[in-house]
Amino acid sequence: MVSRVIPVDPFDLVIFGGTGDLARRKILPGLYRRFWAGQVPDGFRIIGAARTDQDSDVWRDFVREAITEFVTEAKREPETIDAFLAQLHYIPVDARGDSGWPELAEMMRGDVTQAFYFSVGPGLFGDLAERLQRFNISCEDCRIVVEKPFGRDLSSAKALNATLAEHFDEQQIYRIDHYLGKETVQNLMAVRFANVLFEPLWNAQYIDHVQITVAEEVGVGGRGGYYDKSGAMRDMVQNHLMQLLCLTAMEPPSRFGPDAVRDEKLKVIRALDPLGQGDIVRGQYTAASGEPSYLEDVENPDSRTESFIALKVHVANWRWNGTPFYLRTGKRMKARNSEIVVTFKEPPHSIFDADAGSRANVLSIRLQPDEGMDLRVTIKEPGPGGMRLVDVPLDMSFADALGPEAADVPDAYERLIMDVIRGNQTLFMRGDEVEAAWAWTDPIIAAWTERGDRPLPYAPGSSGPEDALILMHKDGRRWREIA
Ligand code: NAP
Repeated sequence: MVSRVIPVDPFDLVIFGGTGDLARRKILPGLYRRFWAGQVPDGFRIIGAARTDQDSDVWRDFVREAITEFVTEAKREPETIDAFLAQLHYIPVDARGDSGWPELAEMMRGDVTQAFYFSVGPGLFGDLAERLQRFNISCEDCRIVVEKPFGRDLSSAKALNATLAEHFDEQQIYRIDHYLGKETVQNLMAVRFANVLFEPLWNAQYIDHVQITVAEEVGVGGRGGYYDKSGAMRDMVQNHLMQLLCLTAMEPPSRFGPDAVRDEKLKVIRALDPLGQGDIVRGQYTAASGEPSYLEDVENPDSRTESFIALKVHVANWRWNGTPFYLRTGKRMKARNSEIVVTFKEPPHSIFDADAGSRANVLSIRLQPDEGMDLRVTIKEPGPGGMRLVDVPLDMSFADALGPEAADVPDAYERLIMDVIRGNQTLFMRGDEVEAAWAWTDPIIAAWTERGDRPLPYAPGSSGPEDALILMHKDGRRWREIA
């Protein structure tokens, strides 16, 4: 396969929080990889900004270490790393004070694309936006990139959106949900809308149900304090699982453009039925083999925050009437595994003997640990012995079909940052989407809080509480094994 890396225009990218964890693990190594791939042109600059008082050389050492730790050896060429680091600068800037801002203003170039990545806590978003304007740094075409969490409920999300809107137009605001940057998530749209094969069947008449799983092996670790105020519903469902649900359930947009796609996603969120108590299972992991329990991890023996949640969700429209979407996400689960599984209905009538067996077609879209798609189709088991049916994978491995280069896809963050520079908002969340998602989530959380529900215990390394399995069993369905 011929590599089709299309270079972006020269840019100045300021990373507020350039000394932080997200910058170190994702943003800076991702930018380096795009530079290595030839997508970042000469004339780019990356400017780190945070309170730490240090010069550019010290920050370059920090970035070099980040590259060493998070970029595979094959891409770590000393000359390429040096050329990348030469384009990096650092300015001490306090988001809450006025120091550093005049220097930053002085440094920005008016004739290249300008982007500002807010890789800091959301409490600083307003301060940064206000100062970018007050110090005449922001321009009509400047972009800002903001990270989750976008609020912790509808009112805080509205306040955050309103604060940003005081200084930037919606077209300038890039709300990152890195799940949307994943190759297979975009492939879901290609499979649905670039083939005639699937879309006619993509509805309640032919699809029995959809499962969306985002399972993590790790616990809450050092994020206990933050996580305990949030929980799986706020931390994962309201954003990541909701976005995956939207892309699976949405109507075909008129074009693959920012507003067309986001309009359709918004309609899905607004069509979600409220959830009843019986549609929700919440859990907390227990201790095992020397590993602390959730309650120990968050140092709060009375915590009622969930580290696991399973939901049965209905999209109340013509397309999906009668087809449930089962969502689950949790920490300390059996394996790190994220996938969307679309289970089709069995043929309405079987012409084969009952003992031939029959199976439903299943399309699975894997996001983690590896990305790929798999379609199970039913065929005759080869050989003599009559008609016995067996399901086999129709393999859609990118590497096999398109060559090894195709398997070397950009990480979600690097792809999305390049989209920011290109000015393409299609894979970013719009403010009204975020608010609609909270408007659906808020009453669900309020109901369990009011009832004082306690999450159910589940063993680390399991698939969550038994009741999560029952949520599907009582509908005559079962979760796919987390593997
Ligand atoms: P972090 O490691 O705590 O880094 C925070 C950064 O903000 C540091 O560079 C810090 O540098 C800077 N900072 C703090 N106060 C500042 C101020 N007043 N003025 C200027 N800079 C200031 O946090 P993080 O993990 O990188 O997360 C950053 C954001 O991304 C958060 O909103 C987080 O929720 C979100 N996020 C993170 C991850 C992740 O994997 N880490 C994933 C998803 C979302 P100084 O102390 O030098 O000022």
